[in-house]
Amino acid sequence: MFCGIISTNCAVRGVYKNMKCPFCAYAESKVVDSRHAEEGATIRRRRECLECKKRFTTYEIMERLPLIVVKRDGSRQTFDKQKLINGMLRACEKRPVPLLELTNVADEIEQELQNSLEREIKTTDIGEMIMNGLKSLDEVAYVRFASVYRQFRDINSFMDELNRLLKDE
Ligand SMILES: [Zn+2]
Repeated sequence: MFCGIISTNCAVRGVYKNMKCPFCAYAESKVVDSRHAEEGATIRRRRECLECKKRFTTYEIMERLPLIVVKRDGSRQTFDKQKLINGMLRACEKRPVPLLELTNVADEIEQELQNSLEREIKTTDIGEMIMNGLKSLDEVAYVRFASVYRQFRDINSFMDELNRLLKDE
């Protein structure tokens, strides 16, 4: 059963509170299946009413609000995935990391940010996400990136990070 188009943030998962069951008008339903339609702009979801257990389908339009990046000095700019990739490329200079892996990391970060309800993200948070991504790809690239992002004050804090990394293994 088609219940109309609503607007929702794609982060909304699990129990959804704003859509009434078309059969009994109960307010809460759970998502039993979702898939993207129209190249990701719309999500088709099968829902199950928590009251009468009947299932229905919704088509939800994902919000594509711009993501705003807040820099250390408080200035703001719109999120630019290419900048993430460029930053990783610098860290991966002369390292055997395929570009595709880096764009995958950038795609995952963008998706995660889009899924969050926050529209403003600190550059330091993005830096942490990139570090997590690089860590599994190439440890040299990871340490290079971390040294820029964590702004190591001196060689000791750099060594601390390096030791922490080695201990994690
Ligand atoms: Zn119902």
